[in-house]
Amino acid sequence: MPISLRDLNLVQKIDFSYESSYIMALDSGTTSVRAVIVDEYGCIVAQASRPIKTMFPHSGWVEQDPMEILASQIAVMIEVQYKSGIHSDRIAAVGISNQRETTVVWDRESGQPIYNAIGWQCRRTAPLAEALVADGHADMIRSKTGLTPDAYFSATKISWILDNVSGARELAEAGRLVFGTIDTWLVYNLTGGMVHATDYTNASRTMLFNIHTLDWDDELLALMDIPRAMMPTLHESSSDFGRVSSEVMTHTPPIAGVAGDQQASLFGHCCFDPGDTKNTYGTGCFMLMNTGNRVVESRQGLVATIGIAEGGTVSYALEGSIFHAGSTIQWLRDKLGIISSARETSDIAASVPDNGGCYLVPAFSGLGAPWWDSEARGLICGLTGASDRASIVRAACESMAYQSYDVLRAMEADAGVRLESLYVDGAASRNDFIMQFQADLLQIPVVQSESVETTALGAAYLAGLSVGFWEDRDEIEQNRTVADRFEPHGDEETRARNLAGWHDAVSRTRCR
Ligand code: ADP
Repeated sequence: MPISLRDLNLVQKIDFSYESSYIMALDSGTTSVRAVIVDEYGCIVAQASRPIKTMFPHSGWVEQDPMEILASQIAVMIEVQYKSGIHSDRIAAVGISNQRETTVVWDRESGQPIYNAIGWQCRRTAPLAEALVADGHADMIRSKTGLTPDAYFSATKISWILDNVSGARELAEAGRLVFGTIDTWLVYNLTGGMVHATDYTNASRTMLFNIHTLDWDDELLALMDIPRAMMPTLHESSSDFGRVSSEVMTHTPPIAGVAGDQQASLFGHCCFDPGDTKNTYGTGCFMLMNTGNRVVESRQGLVATIGIAEGGTVSYALEGSIFHAGSTIQWLRDKLGIISSARETSDIAASVPDNGGCYLVPAFSGLGAPWWDSEARGLICGLTGASDRASIVRAACESMAYQSYDVLRAMEADAGVRLESLYVDGAASRNDFIMQFQADLLQIPVVQSESVETTALGAAYLAGLSVGFWEDRDEIEQNRTVADRFEPHGDEETRARNLAGWHDAVSRTRCR
């Protein structure tokens, strides 16, 4: 008989002294997988990571090997225990955060994937998504799932596998195939094939999940021709996902928290209240605003999604993404060769008193929210004879803040709230110039958390709450440590001039 979480809590009270037990969090990202060990104060005491490969078999196609993801994830789970000397007898629970939307289909008898994982960035199913819009399904999909039909989400990727892998459709109809996002794939394998489950946050990125009823939607499954039997069972993010098998961890701790990476980061920042917003500055930027119990339908090209599902309550979120943020800095280094490392950009940008009228719009692959123009292309404008390397570096740094400004203002308009502060994480959030510029533009404080690993921390918190390692959200909030807080400065005239210059530059990139 399966052990209930209530029983588990009792067992732990006897077996573990809380002073000496820990939570292990797995962060299964797009370019690397990580395992971290978190103590009761929310401090990461050890970590291990491994890169994972991405394959591009055709232009616009993106795939990864599910077996490599699994093997690498298990390897870092083992490595972090050996590195730290903290073994599975002292791990109270395991939490998982993961790259979202990426799709795996496997045979429930053999456990073998029938195709590579189709990555979230993969565009092969764009014609399928466009057909859904052309056939008039966009409003229905948006009202049920909160999403705008797109190849990005899992639904069309599953359909593609069923229609293009030889024999897949027959196997699916015979009930042999199962689907999972990366969390589900990991849970299935880490529990020795015992549990086929996902959480609401990951489910909300499939375009098959009704965010109002919190269930798979039969009309959407029928529209995509996907048998319901393929779908994982659904759980709150903080709940019992089964025990890690003894082949992986000798003392079989429970997997007690699962969330998609951006939602885990929202939780890791303790954005528990409506209006709380976080922005992750990585390769791209991902912004999530907690909208409480309200599903906010965006009029500005953002998506509504499940934000937090913990403790018997579901909070919704508005989400906006920016395609090119830190990648613009990488472009300066790798394509223009005008910097040698991302780290130096903060000082270079601050070495000139202002942008001198120079703007860089990194529309390398079109513009995302709130413009949604896939034909737009990047530009650098406003150059004069006085412009130099610092002008361009500064313009690239500023572009991250301007793009975030545009999405955050769109969120405020959609949700009808005014941001009071912005929580930030991601490697580029360590750029003090960008963070100060962001605070000045938004005219609110920008709060940099001590830990850049807020995603892993969120997964740890979800798991820890579920097993009683932490009592409640208040206890977690006491762990919140701020590395820096950037207060807004600057005069209104400069701000208005900067924004006008930026929006003029954006308009020059537009093709629609
Ligand atoms: P991801 O999780 O998206 O892979 P990270 O959070 O590790 O990304 O961020 C990596 C990106 O951030 C790279 O594109 C890099 O150019 C950029 N970056 C890293 N450090 C800085 C910095 N100090 N200033 C600006 N950009 C940075």
